[in-house]
Amino acid sequence: MQLNGYWFEPRSSARHVATLEVGAEVFSLLTEGIKTKSGLLAELSFSDRIGNTPRRVLFTDGSVFETQDNDLVDEMQAMCGTEHFLSKYVHILESQWRWVLASVVCLVLLGYFVASVVFPWAGRELAYVVPAKVNESISSGGMYLLDQQLFETSDLGKNKKGELKQTFAALLKTLPDSEFDYRLYFRKMEGEANAFSLPAGEIILTDELVGLAENREQIQAILLHEIGHIHHRHVLQQIIRSSLISVVISMATSDLSALEDLVVVLPVFLLESSYSQANENEADDFMYEQMRNLQMNPIHFANILSLITQDESDIDGTALKYFSSHPETTQRIEGAIRKSKEFLGVGGVF
Ligand SMILES: [Zn+2]
Repeated sequence: MQLNGYWFEPRSSARHVATLEVGAEVFSLLTEGIKTKSGLLAELSFSDRIGNTPRRVLFTDGSVFETQDNDLVDEMQAMCGTEHFLSKYVHILESQWRWVLASVVCLVLLGYFVASVVFPWAGRELAYVVPAKVNESISSGGMYLLDQQLFETSDLGKNKKGELKQTFAALLKTLPDSEFDYRLYFRKMEGEANAFSLPAGEIILTDELVGLAENREQIQAILLHEIGHIHHRHVLQQIIRSSLISVVISMATSDLSALEDLVVVLPVFLLESSYSQANENEADDFMYEQMRNLQMNPIHFANILSLITQDESDIDGTALKYFSSHPETTQRIEGAIRKSKEFLGVGGVF
């Protein structure tokens, strides 16, 4: 028996044209005509049959073969003796559209409730009970992945780095005692004026952001905002939420490979997803509170946000992640200007 489809390497979305050849008890996988792997049929697991969606054959190393040959996969499952009762049931149910429609409506409502109420609540609660060691391992794993996938070595000179580290250290001394070990890192990210924070206290500034800043206070504002995210455990909350979603998806699709190494969601989160507006406001509030203690004018935050926003148009619309991960920037700039007027005693009306 021969199935045609695509093969995906573990934890990669790159796909290769592939053929799965199935014998009495063994299989071989050919990608682009070359034998890539082989083994016993008993080692394989299968996704359930749902309508005409492509089926997935899961290998023990986490790689996946995807095919439209649904009937052949059923035959193959029968050969392995792993045909799923649920799979048949879903296939029968599929022909009864009313049931399907009712199930979909219920699932959507349930999903909405779980995603909008249960997960945020659980994320917040769990983020505060996660032991420090877990924070550390998520952070170091996350930093490794970011270095592999996003970052390049910083080109900042030794003096500039030293000056920024001094600013950072002086800023930390003004903060209340913290359970976090805040550390500053410099990385390059082509065209990205950006700042990141990781759950154990790492803050990463890109060369591009450092280059944009006109003065020390603008950098301090960004640092305080990122410290705010760490202080309120926002990254951890988001990771827990995403992880809960993958746990549910894994359970629903019996694809337990998604559970492997949940830290892989971190770069995706930092790159594509965003903090909620509530998280941003919380980090901003933290920053404003510290600025008040330091007698620092909030206008510096408005100015650095404006510079980042303008810089976006300068580089011809290339997505600026700090900007996109910090939505409604105009409102936040206006908010910072308002705070600045309050600070200067001009009055709170903007
Ligand atoms: Zn933020």
